[in-house]
Amino acid sequence: MKNSQPDNPDESLIPAVMPTYARADIAFEKGEGVYLYDTTGRKYLDFGSGVAVNNFGFSHPHLVSALKEQADKLWHTSNLYRIPGQEKLAKRLTSRTFADTVFFTNSGAEAMECAIKIARNYQYSNGKPERYRIITFDGCFHGRTLTTIAASGEEKLVKSFGPQVDGFDHAPFPVQRAEVEKLITSETAAIAIEPVQGEGGIRPVTPECLQVLRDLADEHDLLLIFDEVQCGMGRSGAFFAHQLTDVTPDVMAIAKGIGGGFPLGACLATEKAAAGMTAGTHGSTYGGNPLATAVGNAVLDLIEEDGFLKNVQDISDALRIALVKLRSNHPESIELVRGQGLMLGLKLTYPPAELVAEALKEGLLLVAAADNTVRLLPPLIITKEHVTEAADILSKVLTTIERKHAAAQIDSEEE
Ligand SMILES: *Cc1c(COP(=O)(O)O)cnc(C)c1O
Repeated sequence: MKNSQPDNPDESLIPAVMPTYARADIAFEKGEGVYLYDTTGRKYLDFGSGVAVNNFGFSHPHLVSALKEQADKLWHTSNLYRIPGQEKLAKRLTSRTFADTVFFTNSGAEAMECAIKIARNYQYSNGKPERYRIITFDGCFHGRTLTTIAASGEEKLVKSFGPQVDGFDHAPFPVQRAEVEKLITSETAAIAIEPVQGEGGIRPVTPECLQVLRDLADEHDLLLIFDEVQCGMGRSGAFFAHQLTDVTPDVMAIAKGIGGGFPLGACLATEKAAAGMTAGTHGSTYGGNPLATAVGNAVLDLIEEDGFLKNVQDISDALRIALVKLRSNHPESIELVRGQGLMLGLKLTYPPAELVAEALKEGLLLVAAADNTVRLLPPLIITKEHVTEAADILSKVLTTIERKHAAAQIDSEEE
């Protein structure tokens, strides 16, 4: 008999689930609002949202009924036929953004792959096939496919996976005009950036810097690509993070929040950028199928509700105030509070894994990021009570960690 998860009796055998994640030893059984319940019945306050996915928490009645209703009718048909739910979702996305057209995917990485293909296709279609390179930024994250890891170029993503896909030039972050300009050559097709870096440590790009990139793209006939897979869909307090500025991209990748937990992503583009994306140039078997787009439309219903985004901004202010207070009480742990909307980060003076693990023990889910940052990505439906609950747990956990660190310090001095 083959070994099975999780009781693998033979340590030498690889678990049935490929161990590419250092998972916490917890399994959840159900979710309700902003709380999750594990298999022992223990309750957790979720400030991770499945990494910025469950924007409406768990078991939201509108999302559950949209999914069930569509499940009874039709799940999948393929993109060989028209999909009314997909057409509706595309129109709703284009009517609220810079974009004229949408390609649906199942994930963020695929949405970025589509964006990269559009950039190359745009230059090719304009008689410049030699322009295929894309400028990206240090600390960025665009997914786990061979191309999107090359787009990032981060050592930990690319190290063991052979020659990197060619075509990416990495500029320093934060954005500096001169540094980006240096990388623009006769082979450059586009510039791609997350308006708020997520995995990189909740690092927002200033409106001025986004404008610099817009200007450079216009001057050199490059496409400007925004990766809003994490910061989009209301997370920033605006529908899309760049809408807090005057800058619009030519192409934008989105995913995570758009399906509220159902796998769905999309690549949005202007008519000009996507002019060459004609029949046969790109495809996806599942992308935007009836079940996925029924849920996507239901998510949009909720985001479009009167006052919803305003409420995200208000609760974001409350959370930020609580975190700033936490920082003044714990200066030896917290260096900075940064981010936008309900995408906030605590830059710590030590790696975030310890805080994530201790908070989990106290019933609060958080997500680690690079640059010593812990991410707070609660569902967008949290209230002031949840802010207080999270702040209280964080305060307790930080005190515990600081005591441990102080004790370790004394031990090492005694040695
Ligand atoms: C999560 C993420 C991706 C990749 O999304 P997947 O659905 O995991 O493929 C790409 N870009 C950003 C900014 C992300 O946060």
